[in-house]
Amino acid sequence: MSYVDEVYDLVVQKNPSQPEFHQAVKEVLESLRVVIEANEEKYRKDALLERLVTPERQILFRVPWVDDKGQVQVNNGFRVQFNSAIGPYKGGLRLHPSVNLGIIKFLGFEQIFKNSLTGLPIGGGKGGSDFDPKGKSDREVMAFCQSFITELHKYIGADTDVPAGDIGTGAREIGFMYGQYKRLTGLYEGVLTGKGLSYGGSLARTEATGYGLLYLTEEMLRCNGRDIKNKIIAVSGAGNVAIYAIQKAQQLGAKPVTCSDSTGWIYDPAGIDVALLKEVKEVKRARLSEYAAARSSAQYHEKTNGEHGVWSVKCDIALPCATQNELDLEDAKALVANGCFAVAEGANMPTTMDATEYFQKNNVLFCPGKASNAGGVATSALEMSQNSERLSWTFKEVDSKLKDIMVNIFHSIDEASRQYGMLRNYVAGANIAGFLKVAEAMNAQGIV
Ligand code: NDP
Repeated sequence: MSYVDEVYDLVVQKNPSQPEFHQAVKEVLESLRVVIEANEEKYRKDALLERLVTPERQILFRVPWVDDKGQVQVNNGFRVQFNSAIGPYKGGLRLHPSVNLGIIKFLGFEQIFKNSLTGLPIGGGKGGSDFDPKGKSDREVMAFCQSFITELHKYIGADTDVPAGDIGTGAREIGFMYGQYKRLTGLYEGVLTGKGLSYGGSLARTEATGYGLLYLTEEMLRCNGRDIKNKIIAVSGAGNVAIYAIQKAQQLGAKPVTCSDSTGWIYDPAGIDVALLKEVKEVKRARLSEYAAARSSAQYHEKTNGEHGVWSVKCDIALPCATQNELDLEDAKALVANGCFAVAEGANMPTTMDATEYFQKNNVLFCPGKASNAGGVATSALEMSQNSERLSWTFKEVDSKLKDIMVNIFHSIDEASRQYGMLRNYVAGANIAGFLKVAEAMNAQGIV
């Protein structure tokens, strides 16, 4: 059996009931096969892959907090410090009822390669809790965040592990966590990113993932003889990534016509009204049905069997920006039949493996999230630099660094795909380019 297959089997055996983690490892190892086989003897002797797929540290903890009725609630807390070969652990905190160890491990594993692709010195980690901020009062969210950080603060720090936002963790949650960290440690340091501007946050961090997604998409299209102008775009999600992807797409002259949340989705053929979307989702924290109620051109559809219909809409480009495995083979077939020629992932692993293969077989330009959504973590690393310097850069400075980083990421994954004979296979290109740097650093640092 090949080394790659052996290690994959080991992962399944040692990490039962973690399908998302298995899926992420399989996708990465499959596309690294050619690189691994060329160095099999050395990698096998050093157990390089076994070390790569095993987190350096996994922290599981209890998060007790008191709700508004005086009832004590208990949630599970997680932080997986996956790989620190190229820098301190860096990766977001997800607050969503679906969170479990397997999901955090899949996200942490992906984060290793994403962070490597940014070209910045950051290792891979991820964390979160099965706490659901939806429907909770501000006081309840604060009580949860304070309890969460009371335990987690022992394991994080500006030079060891720097968490950030993710699904369910926005500016409000980061603020509560930062305040509690500072109170417990007495340190005013860049331990979390995504902070508010008045206490060490970076301009353009809010916009970074969505804007970065569009910078990379624009470059991918340009290098393949296409122009993003006047293209119809289907976007899923209505959170941080989706909102700023929609905004930047419009600035680049394209027309996003959809968005979705956990209960329904919008088709707005006149083009999404970003100001209204922000008002509904960021200010009121309301459902998308309120967007449709305020805009006559928009149609609102409830989800059926938990699925949104965003991928059934005729479009040129699809940007999945909600959550994992939200675009499956049937969706891919519908998109291709409707003329979609490019897909770039804003969310982490939103496309199932068979859907990805279908896109690639049908010559759809497909960019995986670890490359196309890396703008968020890249700008978080820029926030860390500003905190260390005790300086704040202008929006323009951060945005232009972000754009350079995204364009460079596209060229490095394109180059890796060419070098290994898999032209335009950006999944392979991203995994290989991300892996090579981490493998070199692990090799140089000995058996640790
Ligand atoms: P938000 O919480 O801001 O928004 C998520 C959006 O997706 C919301 O509209 C939410 O609906 C919807 N959603 C979330 N979970 C589900 C689910 N299980 N089923 C259906 N819909 C769902 O998160 P972000 O925008 O920050 O993150 C979106 C994706 O992008 C995630 O995969 C995240 O890991 C990834 N990502 C985020 C980065 C960032 O900087 N924020 C960086 C890189 C990747 P509702 O409004 O109803 O809650």
